Order: sequence, then C-alpha cells, then structure tokens
Amino acid sequence: MQKPQPPDKYSRSGTYKLTCPECNKVYIGQTGRSFTQRFKEHRNAFKSNRNTSNYAKHALEQLHPFGPIQDTMQVLQYQRKGTHLNTIERFFIYKEFSINNHLNDKFNITPNRIFEALLKPSNNSPNSQPPTNTRPAEEQ
Ligand SMILES: [Zn+2]
Repeated sequence: MQKPQPPDKYSRSGTYKLTCPECNKVYIGQTGRSFTQRFKEHRNAFKSNRNTSNYAKHALEQLHPFGPIQDTMQVLQYQRKGTHLNTIERFFIYKEFSINNHLNDKFNITPNRIFEALLKPSNNSPNSQPPTNTRPAEEQ
C-alpha cells in the first residue's frame, strides 16, 4: 500500500533539499514561490544544460540521474518569503557543510556558534563525551 501524500506538499514555499539519487549529495535551496515551480527550474536547467542550478550541474557533470520530485526533493521547512527564510537556509547548508556533503559551492561558510550548538550531538550519546570518569578525583 502506498501512503498517499498530501496534495499540497510542494505547493508552498520554504527551504528544501535536493538529494542526488545516485550519490546522495545534497543541495539546499529556498524559494518564495512553490517548491514545484522551483523544482521545474532545476529540471529545466538540467534538460537545457544551462548553468543556473548547482544541482543540475552536478547531475550533468557526474552523469547522475536527475530523479523525480518525490524522490529527490525534500521539504525542510515551510516558510513564507522573508528574512527568516535566509537564516533557515543558511542553517541547513551549514549542517551539510559540517558533514561535507553539499553542492552549495556559492555559500560562504563562516563559523556560527548558534548553528554549532544546534548541531552538537546530544549529551546522551556515549561517544560524544570525553571519558571524564577516568580522571583522578581532584576535589579537596
Ligand atoms: Zn550525484
């Protein structure tokens, strides 16, 4: 049984992620129009070999498939057009940069403490903490 998608999933605006179906590299983008419309632009760039989309460029250069919208485009955050959108986009790009899995070469990454804090592994993770319990006791 296929789970039916809400029909308006791509009809809104916000921040999105395109994942290459071949190598899982990602492109983060934002649109103040509909996701569908933005996806069509990426696809048109791919079909006409125009250098207007990093995602299309990647697919063309690496000979990777472009993929249908349901498989490649993921909505990260619904947002209306505005300044807030830029922050969210930057955050998601930052996140992909931190794991070196991005196609956003135009993005100028600068250290961002808030983003770092948000991306820090949870304290419950066993590998994220130094082995403090092996130190000799220093209380006096
Ligand atoms: Zn790829």
